[in-house]
Amino acid sequence: MKTYIRIISFVKPYWKHLAVSIICTILYAVLNGLSVYLTIPLLDTLFQEAPQQEVVNQPSSISTAKNLLPDWIVNIEKDVVDTFNHFVFSGDKIDALLKICVLVIVAFFLKNVFGYLQAYFLSYVEQGTMKDLRDKAYSHLHELPMGYFKQERVGNLISRIVNDVNVVQNSISAAFLNLIREPLTILVFIGIALSISWQLTLLAFVVLPFSMGIIAWIGLKLRKHSTEIQAKMADITSIIQETISGVKIVKAFGMEEYENKKFVRETRNFFRMMLRIVRIRNASSPITEFLSVIVGAVIIYYGGVLVLQHHTLKASEFLGFLFAIFQLMPPIKELSTVNNRIQESSAAGDRIFEIIDTKPAIEDSKDAVEVNEFNKTISFEQIGFHYEDSDELVLKDINFEVKKGQIIALVGPSGGGKSTLVDLIPRFYDPTEGRILIDGLDSKNIKINNLRALMGIVTQETFLFNESIKNNIAYGLGNYPMEKIIEAAKAANAHNFIMEMTNGYESVIGERGLKLSGGQRQRISIARAILKNPPVMIFDEATSALDNESEQLVQEAIERMMINRTTFVIAHRLSTIRNASRILVLDRGSIIQAGTHDELILDLNGLYRKFYEMQFRD
Ligand code: ADP
Repeated sequence: MKTYIRIISFVKPYWKHLAVSIICTILYAVLNGLSVYLTIPLLDTLFQEAPQQEVVNQPSSISTAKNLLPDWIVNIEKDVVDTFNHFVFSGDKIDALLKICVLVIVAFFLKNVFGYLQAYFLSYVEQGTMKDLRDKAYSHLHELPMGYFKQERVGNLISRIVNDVNVVQNSISAAFLNLIREPLTILVFIGIALSISWQLTLLAFVVLPFSMGIIAWIGLKLRKHSTEIQAKMADITSIIQETISGVKIVKAFGMEEYENKKFVRETRNFFRMMLRIVRIRNASSPITEFLSVIVGAVIIYYGGVLVLQHHTLKASEFLGFLFAIFQLMPPIKELSTVNNRIQESSAAGDRIFEIIDTKPAIEDSKDAVEVNEFNKTISFEQIGFHYEDSDELVLKDINFEVKKGQIIALVGPSGGGKSTLVDLIPRFYDPTEGRILIDGLDSKNIKINNLRALMGIVTQETFLFNESIKNNIAYGLGNYPMEKIIEAAKAANAHNFIMEMTNGYESVIGERGLKLSGGQRQRISIARAILKNPPVMIFDEATSALDNESEQLVQEAIERMMINRTTFVIAHRLSTIRNASRILVLDRGSIIQAGTHDELILDLNGLYRKFYEMQFRD
């Protein structure tokens, strides 16, 4: 229920639309009752042989209810009925018939107009709320810690924002339509039924306890299953997403059949689960209806006896009563599904709120300051780090200082902690021990946006957005002058191949940059970094996945970028390493050697020497 209330709280900004919708709902329910009530005089007019005057003088419909209702209500009702009868039956029978027919038309017309308005305004509220919920979950994605994206499958996150939000939608109309309209309609018709015959009405209510028990039981079952269903849907989305992202690997390893089987297994599970839900959900209506019919038959029998034997009820009233009772059934049935829908959507809501409630691991501290330049040093003091999911230290006791303009090359065996170390600089992760000082200021006390604005990052896994090349290069920089973009592309050795494309800088990159070669993508992302022109650059194995020719071009671009910048580079190429002001050799999380190439190469037993000989023997 807490989840549900929280979902409903998202409706707040739309309260005006909601209010209009609720007013229309109330008018709809009242007019709905009126249109049924009108059948009684209609039947009287059509079938009654007695003169109409009698009807006016004997509003017998009220007499039976008198002992149940307070006087003032009875009086008002009497006045209304009298006025109504006077209006309708003041002329002859045909005249009365015409008036009633016109009234019926008007009542139904208004009822439907209000029904329409109510539905429109409610949909407005629903769609608006969904939009807000989706926006909120999406914008929260940007705040989640990096580790979160490693733990959660991407498809699972997508599914929550897409599919679960859809499920939640159902429950909003449940709260504001069904929980208002149906009870109101029920009240109106019970009122009508009571005013006709309270004995018959009581009898009719034998059905309620039955339905209620069954409804509660079904709701419980459904909630349990629908959580499973949404989780399964997320699994399926994940498989699709993984297949699309890894399409090359799937094909290369001939795993289509395997992936298909995996997918079919999941969809089959989903199908079975869905059937289970469908069995329960669909049983709810027929069961309620069948119970209602049993009671209906009893009523017809008892009412028939009142009309035929005891003459305490007019035939037209009895028919009016039956109409009212039958009008009661749809809202009762509808109400019986409301609980199910609320249960289902609470389950989906839980899955969405789980994203929204995940705390950003890295936030601006309260006294974070603005820093817009980097002037002197970056120092690592006593840095230790382990990832959230294990206690094993990935970095231990890291101490070094970098002066502005220096190039720091990180080398060492894979898994040594190089990427982790450079990820700490822009605070993708925070060190578990120690601190990083930028110009003497703890990086935790610098506004994150400022800190990251000081840095450019080029990684092995370049990501380009499905937009024009121009926009990819000027990512995050808004409407940037074209000459600057071209200048950056030239510096990144990207201008030539961009100009060869039909649309030049306006060419739109296909998903994940599939239309470009690895080296071309890499050069675009370097152009992006050059344009941003940050004082600090981080290169993470930027050239390791490229062939020789592209590597040459990318390397040139990288070297151009390093000029006048403070650079951290996870290095593969001898030229980079040789140019470095300092080389740090990382092994199992510790810096085991540090110095220039010329210094380190002298230590014949050092890891650097071995590494050098392995990689650059030729
Ligand atoms: P390198 O860049 O030198 O190859 P990494 O910094 O990538 O090394 O990895 C260092 C260690 O941290 C490895 O043992 C790796 O398994 C572990 N590691 C890397 N990323 C994560 C992560 N997101 N969660 C848990 N462990 C990680």
